[in-house]
Amino acid sequence: MLFPALAGAAAAAAVTAGFHTMWPTSQLYGRTFTGNGRNSRQLALTFDDGPNDVHTQKLLEVLDRHAVKATFFMIGKYVEQRPEIVRAVAQAGHAIGNHTYSHPNLIFKNRFEVRRELRECSRALRAVLGNYSRLFRPPHGGRRPEVLRMVRACELIPVMWNVSGWDWKPHSPEEIARKIQQQVRGGDVILLHDGSHERIGTDRSNSVKATDLILRRFKDEGYEFVTVPEMMKLHENPHQFAPVAG
Ligand SMILES: [Zn+2]
Repeated sequence: MLFPALAGAAAAAAVTAGFHTMWPTSQLYGRTFTGNGRNSRQLALTFDDGPNDVHTQKLLEVLDRHAVKATFFMIGKYVEQRPEIVRAVAQAGHAIGNHTYSHPNLIFKNRFEVRRELRECSRALRAVLGNYSRLFRPPHGGRRPEVLRMVRACELIPVMWNVSGWDWKPHSPEEIARKIQQQVRGGDVILLHDGSHERIGTDRSNSVKATDLILRRFKDEGYEFVTVPEMMKLHENPHQFAPVAG
């Protein structure tokens, strides 16, 4: 029989373990990039779950108006369905990363399924772009050591976030911008969505408008918007995340 205190501790440990598989800035289950820490005047906008017409295109217009480059984590099956949008994002100078082929929570998948999701998305992106950034973001932020080992074995670089607009909930553009403003400290990776894993065509106009508000506000305050590869200085140190044996 377990003593009640021990049973409680075991339950707490199980909750903590679950928490760390999903919490974006946790490093317990392996190193992931979540930003550069305070005292930086750089911010990186990231957009997940596209390509998604017409909102990805609207977002490109906003980013172009502000002369800002961002990072897009795309779903492979949508890449296959909307290659022209993927090409437009790349041609505008934004970074593009892998967000799996069909957006499952990888903590519930075995290593072969994880590898297939990573490779199929890579294949879809390479078919359109020739090559891409090697950045990877796990769907729902879900990862555990075996997932991250497979990510690195596939020569991908795991990227999380430390600021969220919570824009998958029905918030107004002002609410999304306010939530982000409350969290930004400098050197942040900001999570927003130009699409939805549920379907292409999901309305993301509030996220697009919020992006415009965020860009106005933080550029006025002297922040510089960069892509994730720029923030990570990947061009200076491409071996920083050398793949490990899977
Ligand atoms: Zn996603």
